Amino acid sequence: MIQLYMPLNFLGVVYRELKQSTADIDRMFGLLNEQQEINDSPNASTLVIDDPNRGPSITFDKVCFSYDKQRPILKDISFTIPAGTTTAVVGRSGAGKSTLSRLLFRFYDVSSGRILVDGQDVRQVTQASLRQAIGIVPQDTVLFNDTVGYNIRYGRPEATDADMKAAAKAAQLDAFIESLPQGYETPVGERGLKLSGGEKQRLAIARTLLKNPAILVFDEATSALDSRTERALQTELWKLARNRSTLIIAHRLSTIVHADQILVIDHGELIEHGTHESLLASGGTYAQMWQMQLSEPDHVEIN
Ligand code: ADP
Ligand code: MG
Repeated sequence: MIQLYMPLNFLGVVYRELKQSTADIDRMFGLLNEQQEINDSPNASTLVIDDPNRGPSITFDKVCFSYDKQRPILKDISFTIPAGTTTAVVGRSGAGKSTLSRLLFRFYDVSSGRILVDGQDVRQVTQASLRQAIGIVPQDTVLFNDTVGYNIRYGRPEATDADMKAAAKAAQLDAFIESLPQGYETPVGERGLKLSGGEKQRLAIARTLLKNPAILVFDEATSALDSRTERALQTELWKLARNRSTLIIAHRLSTIVHADQILVIDHGELIEHGTHESLLASGGTYAQMWQMQLSEPDHVEIN
């Protein structure tokens, strides 16, 4: 972990001189040691989103993927997130849920099949334009060795103070920040104030609220929060998702009952899909998971 912070700090510093460094964003996925083999195709175009105020449609078309050839991770996954709607993904730990978001972000290329954003294959658009369009609240948030304000602004460096504070407020982080002796100027990260898992998640949410992207990805975004803070934040997250295309990888099933569509992934396969009601009615895996969580109201994670 100590190794992590050196390159991050370095990047935090050079970032001030760079307009947009997608390499930094890559690191938010917590895959620091991964080999980067993804390049823009020579004739890559800028991603065009038909209606940025609603978000694009996103299609996974017969997607297969493996990190190494010996072990297939995703097997023939097909689904569409219609423009401006929310799709939730549930399934056991290791099922391949986070991998879906990494492929959408084009951290890796699919082994076969394709991923389309408003009809454009993610391999045919520039990574900068693709990643600009996506805001992700990951499982593990990486903080730069800089101020808490800088870390929130990372979503949109040119944002005004007022916008930054509004985002912190919506992410239920403002009271905490204002209680710090240096407020938004408080250094965080390895050499500054250490934030708890829940505080880091709220910071990532503030960062994403400020970035205000057309596509949102929440990867178990509220898993480190206590259930009261989670409930309060959920309201904000759903508000944010309303005019976006959203992929929400769910920790607690109770948080995704309103999703337009729920996908159940098991061992890399899409085994069920539907609404909360239709999945309950069909009495399959989702219905079993729901029953299990009902019996453990305080421990409703599905890992
Ligand atoms: P989930 O988010 O559903 O818990 P992931 O998508 O993170 O699952 O991972 C799916 C599978 O891929 C797991 O078995 C995991 O161990 C494996 N995996 C994840 N990342 C890598 C990687 N960088 N290299 C090799 N295997 C990986
Ligand atoms: Mg995951």
